[in-house]
Amino acid sequence: MGNNGSDGLIEFYASEALTCPRRIYFRLKGYPERWPENVKVRLNQGVRTHEVLGRILRDRFGFELERHLVLRSRKLGFEIHGRIDAFREFPIEIKGKTSLPKVPYEYHLAQLNVYLRWAEADYGYLYYVKLHEEPMKVIGRLDLSGFPVIKGPNFRAFEIPYDGRLFKETLRHFYSVKKAYERDRPPEGWRSYACRFCPYRYLCYPNGFEL
Ligand code: SF4
Repeated sequence: MGNNGSDGLIEFYASEALTCPRRIYFRLKGYPERWPENVKVRLNQGVRTHEVLGRILRDRFGFELERHLVLRSRKLGFEIHGRIDAFREFPIEIKGKTSLPKVPYEYHLAQLNVYLRWAEADYGYLYYVKLHEEPMKVIGRLDLSGFPVIKGPNFRAFEIPYDGRLFKETLRHFYSVKKAYERDRPPEGWRSYACRFCPYRYLCYPNGFEL
């Protein structure tokens, strides 16, 4: 996908909401991604987890998978593209993780919140699933009787209401990256644990990565 959407608007992704601004900048500028080996393994496991759980949501509960959306602001000069994992009247976002968080990550909330805004839905769900070589070993043990609040070992479901304040913050964040993009000056990066999973590590840590 190019960096400029319709009418020359800059394209962001919902999955970039409130993530490291420097990483988004590098993506917009077209720097090649170099994925660390450990991340590739997780990405593949994540894809399989999405496939298995997605099939259940589609076949058993009538959800549409990978629904594409665009939110456009000519005033701000950008658009946000997204692909909702599962959508019916409300969105469900699935996150495969090596360890499950006790509370949702702020940037996952911001991503789901973009979907809620687009769908004009009052609430949606975040599912955290523990990554496994064979996802059915986790997903086969889930209790679906209280759907959409699914329960089970190695699984966490959160019901999330729409948050107008968070949406404004997300727009501000994207706008500041847009400004940096136009000025050709990379913004400060997070330089945190997130760098472990970043394909642009080689740019921020040219002398090798240590955290
Ligand atoms: S390596 Fe870290 S600071 Fe640099 S772009 Fe990636 S996440 Fe941001």
